[in-house]
Amino acid sequence: MSVTGKYFLNSRKGAITQQYPDNRATLKMFDRFRGEVIMPHDEQNEHTCTGCQKCEIACPNGSIEIIWDRAIVEETGKKKKKIDKFVYHLGLCTMCGLCIDVCPTDAIVWGQNFENSVYDRTKLTRVLNEKGSKVKAGIED
Ligand code: SF4
Ligand code: SF4
Repeated sequence: MSVTGKYFLNSRKGAITQQYPDNRATLKMFDRFRGEVIMPHDEQNEHTCTGCQKCEIACPNGSIEIIWDRAIVEETGKKKKKIDKFVYHLGLCTMCGLCIDVCPTDAIVWGQNFENSVYDRTKLTRVLNEKGSKVKAGIED
């Protein structure tokens, strides 16, 4: 009781209780929060995933599937590997972070979203690269 009282009177961080879901519009999770794996894209709909498959190999439970292809690079005229689909099975993911740690181009990061409840578990399988997106020029793994 004395410990509780001490924290009650001397808390330096302020209240940490969240009035969820009332504060849904303003709620920001902590920077280190691991909600889901996401692939950021810029305004040109470009990402930095080269399709190297290091994340797929590192994942201990098969939550990532890289479906890749080869395409001709205009500048060199040579064929180069590229992702067709980056498939992420959120329902299998344990949020261990190995995929993010191993990625040589920081193509995948932690997302803050945590509202992932669904009635149909197939909705937990997602394609992380946006339709029509491509890898940024000059990105090599
Ligand atoms: S996300 Fe990173 S590790 Fe995975 S295929 Fe793309 S570049 Fe390679
Ligand atoms: S966080 Fe871990 S379990 Fe989830 S996709 Fe990445 S490596 Fe696999």
